[in-house]
Amino acid sequence: MNHFHYRDGRLFVEDKALADIAAEVGTPFYCYASATLARHYDVFAAAIADNGLDAAICFAVKANASLAVIRTLAQRGCGADVVSEGELRLALRAGVPAERIVFSGVGKTGRELSFALVSGIRQINVESLPELESLNALAVRMGRRAPVAVRVNPDVDAHTHAKISTGAAEHKFGIAWDSALAVCRHADELPGIDFRGLAVHIGSQLTELAPFAQAFAKVRDLTLALREAGVPVSHLDLGGGLGVPYAPGEEPPSPAAYAAMVRETLGGLGCALMFEPGRMLVGNAGVLVAKVIYVKETGTKTFVIVDAAMNDLIRPSMYSAHHEVIPVAEPAPDAEIAPVDVVGPICETGDTFGRAMLLPPLAAGDLVAFGTAGAYGAVMSSSYNGRPLVPEVLVKGSQSCVTRRRPDYEDMLALETLPNWL
Ligand SMILES: *Cc1c(COP(=O)(O)O)cnc(C)c1O
Repeated sequence: MNHFHYRDGRLFVEDKALADIAAEVGTPFYCYASATLARHYDVFAAAIADNGLDAAICFAVKANASLAVIRTLAQRGCGADVVSEGELRLALRAGVPAERIVFSGVGKTGRELSFALVSGIRQINVESLPELESLNALAVRMGRRAPVAVRVNPDVDAHTHAKISTGAAEHKFGIAWDSALAVCRHADELPGIDFRGLAVHIGSQLTELAPFAQAFAKVRDLTLALREAGVPVSHLDLGGGLGVPYAPGEEPPSPAAYAAMVRETLGGLGCALMFEPGRMLVGNAGVLVAKVIYVKETGTKTFVIVDAAMNDLIRPSMYSAHHEVIPVAEPAPDAEIAPVDVVGPICETGDTFGRAMLLPPLAAGDLVAFGTAGAYGAVMSSSYNGRPLVPEVLVKGSQSCVTRRRPDYEDMLALETLPNWL
């Protein structure tokens, strides 16, 4: 992980000690490193430039919707890929220019589409014929032409977790491969639609290049077929999906290898490209910091019970995901390593961060950081079990800022109303 390291026995994020943030903010909290965000963006942008690709990078906001994170990336020239009006408003508020925003998603409502049109965003990725028809009708009524890419479903196996695979025929995403050409041709004829090209996104946390290459080769074929049919294709949106390492030794394809594969599969078509990386930009830029409440011995097992839970970081229970547990106080080199289950306080067995994790001794009051928690962490949190949403802290050098505060119990109760019959 970048910019998360021990210094004098204490875990630092850049030049700020996590224990010091914990003392100010309380636990649990998410913490992000600006330097890692910047580095990941720069490495990806450089890989694209080095391969001579003409491309826009639009951060998939659904991976991390912190205003401060979006703005950190936007200041480097990054755009935004949004999937709802809420995310679109966030991206605009973060300072992403409308012409760098793309709107994805299988079920955009009429209200969301009209807001996107009024905002003048760069592109709307359409995923079905009914969506295309209603967007056309809306645009005509508003006296506009909607800039559209048609998201196609290339029917490939992404070789990733079933819940985050999106590019096979059985999935709800995109236009079925067999009807893609006809839908694009139709889109090109509609008066309210400015047909630009194709979009594809086959899944998340991909750890091989082959599924991408397979999908992109099909996109190339379709591009050529469309041109032959007289339908101009000027834009290709290649989605996100590149995996990140969650455990030591994991080595997903590098941005350089990914960009080279893109050049090989889609280079020379003269299309403007777009990428929508999410996890890759933010995953390893964040940790979730928690405090040990109790260590419970049951005779057969040791449970380390922490004050973060599945409502704060759902990936282990939702995707069986692994997150490293890093003691915030550096363990002694000769510390005895023993298997423990790290669990949260929620009344569900699924509220388990890891089973038989090999860790040095931990005691009540100790702080631990869950690694690689910057993507699909805070954004997927809830207040299940009456637990306040976890605050987010952004670090830059030795500075830190609480970029989203922890709601207090009054904030939480303020949304509730009793009906007049009670
Ligand atoms: C989720 C999503 C992304 C981002 O995926 P990552 O795996 O986080 O890079 C990009 N584009 C679309 C359409 C998505 O649904």
